[in-house]
Amino acid sequence: MQYQVIRSSRKSIGMQMTESGIVVRAPYFATMYQIERFVRDHEPWIRKQLEKQQSRQAALSSVKVMTDEQFARLKKLAKAYIPQRIAYYAPLVGVAGRVTKISIRCQKTKWGSCTSKGSISINCLLMLAPKEVLDAVVVHELCHLIEMNHSQRFYANVTRVYPQYKKWFKWLKDNGAVLQATVPLKYR
Ligand SMILES: [Zn+2]
Repeated sequence: MQYQVIRSSRKSIGMQMTESGIVVRAPYFATMYQIERFVRDHEPWIRKQLEKQQSRQAALSSVKVMTDEQFARLKKLAKAYIPQRIAYYAPLVGVAGRVTKISIRCQKTKWGSCTSKGSISINCLLMLAPKEVLDAVVVHELCHLIEMNHSQRFYANVTRVYPQYKKWFKWLKDNGAVLQATVPLKYR
């Protein structure tokens, strides 16, 4: 098993999967024996991560980049559909009438954003995801009109309105790069 060791003043050994492979973070005083044992103990985790990374890379390499026409059509669809979802969820979140502006953006890496003044921005690429993913992002941003942070209370409100939130947000975390890879190069 190949891995890179980075030592620092941390107190315990930890591990991370990066695009370039496994990185073990260890305290200055950890011995190679301890590090090797740590890696061995985490082999199932590493295998799972490697498999995930491989399938992610396979998905990315098979992505078809949209043509300009397809991209324009997606934007148009998004502009028609996303405001409807915002209008649907705003009263459920308890913020009916508080949304002052809706922007549909396509090139940004952000999935959504929201200002305290009620301006909400949603990424049009979410139109390519299962519709539950878009709803999860919409609810997340609407809940920011109540609370501009990611506190427990904020997430309690998100999951009250959208109980499946975690599942679909994870989908986005796992597949977001694939969505982004469909954007025509000149718009990135
Ligand atoms: Zn947020």
